[in-house]
Amino acid sequence: MSTIFKKIIDGEIPCNKVYEDEKTLAFHDIDPQAPIHILVIPKVEVPNIYESNGEIVADCLNAIQKVTEKLGLNKSGFRIITNNGVDAGQEVEHLHFHILGGTKLGHIHHKDTTKDNI
Ligand code: AMP
Repeated sequence: MSTIFKKIIDGEIPCNKVYEDEKTLAFHDIDPQAPIHILVIPKVEVPNIYESNGEIVADCLNAIQKVTEKLGLNKSGFRIITNNGVDAGQEVEHLHFHILGGTKLGHIHHKDTTKDNI
């Protein structure tokens, strides 16, 4: 099933693009969670990490390097997040990498009180 990201790839929906190559597209998240919040997506339609492969992830990693260098985040630092599945709160079922930066990010703290043995 096509997602909103497929529509962005096909140009049916606009995006604030920061980088594009043959295999990937990177654009600003519509609801930024940091001063800089970019999404890097493969152009091929894969819903998550498990439907993906090393080549697709390598293409995205290359794009992440290009984007972060372009925005100067390679010097200041940044965080990459990929949500997979329900527990991670994945909303769009098209593999994507969030790049968060532009400020000093807090540590990742999460205490799940529903599970006491992890
Ligand atoms: P996730 O929860 O990991 O699936 O992340 C999906 C992300 O896509 C969210 O951060 C949304 O804000 C973002 N998003 C949804 N629609 C758009 C859009 N049209 N343009 C840019 N970002 C979007």
